[in-house]
Amino acid sequence: MEKDVRVRFAPSPTGGLHLGGVRTVLYNYLFAKQNNGKFIVRIEDTDRTRFVEGAEQYIFDCLDWCGLTPDESVVHGGEYGPYRQSDRKEIYKKYAEQLIDQGNAYYAFDTPEELEQMRTNLKTDKNPNPQYDHNTRMNMRNSLSLSDAEVKQLIESGTPYVIRIKMPDNETISFTDMIRGEISNSSGLVDDKVLLKADGMPTYHLAVVVDDYLMKISHAFRGEEWLPSAPVHILLWKYLGWENEMPQWGHFPLILKPDGNGKLSKRDGQRLGFPVFAMKWADPGTGEALDGFKEVGFLPEAFVNILAMLGWNDNTEQEVFSLNELISKFSIDRIHKGGAKFDYEKAKWFNHKHLQEKTETDLYNLVLPFIHTHSPEVDNELLKKVIPLVKERCNLLTDFWDQSHFFFVRPENIDTTPISGKWDDDKTNFFKVWLTKLDELTNWDADSLENLFTDTATELSIKKGQVMLPLRIMLVGGKYGPNVMDIAALLGKKEVKVRVECILEQL
Ligand code: GLU
Repeated sequence: MEKDVRVRFAPSPTGGLHLGGVRTVLYNYLFAKQNNGKFIVRIEDTDRTRFVEGAEQYIFDCLDWCGLTPDESVVHGGEYGPYRQSDRKEIYKKYAEQLIDQGNAYYAFDTPEELEQMRTNLKTDKNPNPQYDHNTRMNMRNSLSLSDAEVKQLIESGTPYVIRIKMPDNETISFTDMIRGEISNSSGLVDDKVLLKADGMPTYHLAVVVDDYLMKISHAFRGEEWLPSAPVHILLWKYLGWENEMPQWGHFPLILKPDGNGKLSKRDGQRLGFPVFAMKWADPGTGEALDGFKEVGFLPEAFVNILAMLGWNDNTEQEVFSLNELISKFSIDRIHKGGAKFDYEKAKWFNHKHLQEKTETDLYNLVLPFIHTHSPEVDNELLKKVIPLVKERCNLLTDFWDQSHFFFVRPENIDTTPISGKWDDDKTNFFKVWLTKLDELTNWDADSLENLFTDTATELSIKKGQVMLPLRIMLVGGKYGPNVMDIAALLGKKEVKVRVECILEQL
């Protein structure tokens, strides 16, 4: 019988949520939705040294913003809880002990200094990075190298210990990855990973296997960086007697720096001027705060679309997808094996496309908070009229202010050099005449303004093209913006006159 589809995103709440993490969420979510399955979020917080206040809530806030709602989690409940590993501490120990009883794991009493010493002492040309494994373990202090009596005595006297997996010396561990196909590793190359730490907490390796089993996970999807850990996990599934329940594996490709050289990091974002986190993350330890895609003005549907395309396509030319389209078209077997280069310009292009599809009311509601950060008092009715005029020029929600501030705030210290060189009395005269005629204009709209402008130019035998740019500079303060007559129409007569007169005085 086919298993019910149950997939999980298993973040460690240690800081900002990287776009690669959100892509893992998205692919899991899409797979669950298209298979009538469940998408579970499990908080993997067993490493207490990396605990960061607020990081867990932040992950749920990010998923909320993206519209990728879990079916089961700490927040959403479910039958397989608790969904936070630190609340499951008691569950893991018995499995670690079962592994010891079976001879697949052992107690290790080595202090941090002894481990350090091993790394220095056993370093040879052939083995430059000695690890705790079948080559070294008999030289260390553990239940394989010590007598039973010594082990008993150490445990009874309260000596801190960890439990390590005993990796076989030379076994081939193979599995089928849904994206990469057959993968084989030699067990002898993998170290004896710690399964249970001295504080009684499991490590990720033990907890991930136990929880995927107990939570009946059918497919374990995660980033490629976890591939080296897969042999340990596969052996644990086998040793714990759960091989027939093992999920199908899929390791997603890395998201690479724009130049393709290595994994995209938060430092790359800072260096190149783009976000890498979904939402703003303020680190309570360092005080460092980095804006996310949300704060720089991306729409969540565009962000999701960008992530979908970083490692997948539907085998057509289509690039712009809604979440519902992605649910029906996504397929694991079309995920690429190779890393996907992140291209910020392309990311903005996606946002531009999604912005244009918004209704005017939606866009107004989305833009308003960004406008308010610059000008809390902005005229809302004017903003509603301005948005459709400038939206084609905007990639990000933050661009709306840059493209439209001159509607709300009179530009100051305008640089007139683009027009002053070719200025003459005919032009001054043209504007003076046009200003007077504005008073006679019965309809204050873009067409009437344009006609009056053209007629005045013809009447005074001046080329319209020569006075168009000056008018734009006078009204906008620069060489940009939508149709200048649309701008004049929205600014209103009084404001147009003030702006034109002010610049005329300077020329
Ligand atoms: N806790 C791991 C992480 O932080 C999850 C890896 C997995 O999904 O197995 O990414």
